[in-house]
Amino acid sequence: MVIIIGAGISGLSLAYFLEQKNIAYQLLEKSNEVGGYLQTKKISDFQFDLGANTILTDEFLMNFLKEIGTEIEIIEAKDVSKNRYILKKGKYRALPSKPQHLLWNNFFSWKTKWKIYQELKKKKENFDNETLSHFFERRFSKEIVDYALTPFVRGIYAGNPDNLLIEKTFPLLKKYEEEYGSVIRGFIKNKSTERKKTISFKNGMRTLPDFIAKKLKNITLDCEVENIQKSNEKYIIETNKGTFEGEKIVFALPSFMTSKLLCNILPESKVLNEIEYAPMKIVYSIYEKQDVKHQLNGFGGLNPAVENTFCLGSIWNSSIFEHRCKENQVMFTTFVGGSASPEKTKLSEQETKEKVHQELAQHYNIVKKPIFSYIYFWEKALPQYDKNCINAHQWIENQQKDNIFVCANWYGGVSLGDCIKKAKNLSENL
Ligand SMILES: Cc1cc2nc3c(=O)[nH]c(=O)nc-3n(C[C@H](O)[C@H](O)[C@H](O)COP(=O)(O)OP(=O)(O)OC[C@H]3O[C@@H](n4cnc5c(N)ncnc54)[C@H](O)[C@@H]3O)c2cc1C
Repeated sequence: MVIIIGAGISGLSLAYFLEQKNIAYQLLEKSNEVGGYLQTKKISDFQFDLGANTILTDEFLMNFLKEIGTEIEIIEAKDVSKNRYILKKGKYRALPSKPQHLLWNNFFSWKTKWKIYQELKKKKENFDNETLSHFFERRFSKEIVDYALTPFVRGIYAGNPDNLLIEKTFPLLKKYEEEYGSVIRGFIKNKSTERKKTISFKNGMRTLPDFIAKKLKNITLDCEVENIQKSNEKYIIETNKGTFEGEKIVFALPSFMTSKLLCNILPESKVLNEIEYAPMKIVYSIYEKQDVKHQLNGFGGLNPAVENTFCLGSIWNSSIFEHRCKENQVMFTTFVGGSASPEKTKLSEQETKEKVHQELAQHYNIVKKPIFSYIYFWEKALPQYDKNCINAHQWIENQQKDNIFVCANWYGGVSLGDCIKKAKNLSENL
């Protein structure tokens, strides 16, 4: 029997793959609903996601989504959302989406364009625990770090590329340097013909956990794991709903909660507390379309740290998917805080809403206040893959010999796609 603790996307996917293989499992979830960070809210005519907004799918993930029955619920991002905007000198400018556009587009300076070309000939180097900023500045340029890397890393990890490690976040890039002597050459050699799609669901991202859960026979909700004991090679899982027993145990919940549950049988599990989480406030703003004098013809606008803004950036939800608000309105999801500026999440709701509106008004030429705004705070939004996670990862890997496993976003990738694929891989080894 495999006991899985936590029914976020990681635990649910693992339970699903085990069910397909007829491997006995029991999934325990403390909340009265599944999904963890995947939550969708509907207020009046507005629908918004509190956690993940989209999932980037490849063939494997599309097949998975079909298998769990979500096919008719899927909505693809509109074509226009392929455009990504970056704030440069106070104005949003489209980032070239294809390498060949780089030359003709004046987003980057000629010096940087030349450095991109030179990357093909740069010698390989190896640094222990190299950070993303160091890697990108070494292989490309500071301008790439400031205006391409940083805004995306703030968008994906709420993180700071001066701290995040290349090996833990984008290991493929390091592999390309090692194998081909150049990141660009690695991309050319491995050019995939597979079409990736950014998708969501008509009723928001909640659809994903809800549909997986419908396929599961052995899931217990409102069941908080409180303690774990070990007796005769079996794990005894104590919960508010009684005791469960299993030979294998999978932690599909945050690292600090994993540590808390393991500390009685394995005091060294406190190393898991070294993993840091970035806090993030999310502000949803709806404006009348006529009051926003910007085309919003893209996925959203990201703000590089060097632009010194209050917000990390915004997603332009109504440009990506239909039915997030009324036709004559536009919706922004704006991110505040992250590991580079956690103090910004400490402001009051009112102050935060005002600051966000001021910045949106300035950058998108908005002439009136929002007709609706809503704030959600994730105190521990995303785990940081920086040097603090190295010992924790090493430690949890060593526990596999004792049938203790992890399947969660703090190990092996944070994206939904990563979580589902890790679950698939783990299901092959249990
Ligand atoms: C604001 C934000 C935006 C994001 N945007 C995207 C995006 O657009 N695309 C993307 O791919 N990814 C995105 N992500 C990342 C992604 O959503 C998460 O990495 C992923 O959902 C984490 O899932 P998980 O199952 O690993 O953990 P969780 O969702 O944290 O699940 C853990 C579960 O364990 C349960 N639990 C906790 N303690 C106990 C206990 N003692 N007993 C039983 N159960 C317990 C919890 O209730 C929870 O349900 C975003 C994340 C955030 C925060």
